[in-house]
Amino acid sequence: MKEYTCIVCPRSCRITVEEKDGELVITGNTCKRGYEFAKNEYTDPKRMLTTTVKVTGGVLPRIPVISTQEVPKDRLEDCLKVLYGLELKAPVQYGEIICENILGTGVDIKASRTLQAK
Ligand code: SF4
Repeated sequence: MKEYTCIVCPRSCRITVEEKDGELVITGNTCKRGYEFAKNEYTDPKRMLTTTVKVTGGVLPRIPVISTQEVPKDRLEDCLKVLYGLELKAPVQYGEIICENILGTGVDIKASRTLQAK
């Protein structure tokens, strides 16, 4: 049995997921969105990835980046290591893909702002 706090809305329902006779039994959710949240958390948890990446020659030393889709939760740490190792060269444009198909996840990482050169 696993317990989750639903993060879909501020109500923060406590949801329980357990397997009985090969079926998922989900309780504690107030709505269907919470049901889907708990089911996904139990079977295939994913998260959006946001961090910053080093930039040389820019007006700032780092640029914020975000994944174009959610990344499997168990790959987040490895993806972050890849991004910590990157070094971009300014200028970087908003929306520019700075890492394609990161670690074969099928997810791209894009710049979430423009960073001008010095
Ligand atoms: S189960 Fe529904 S009502 Fe409860 S926190 Fe999740 S989205 Fe909100």
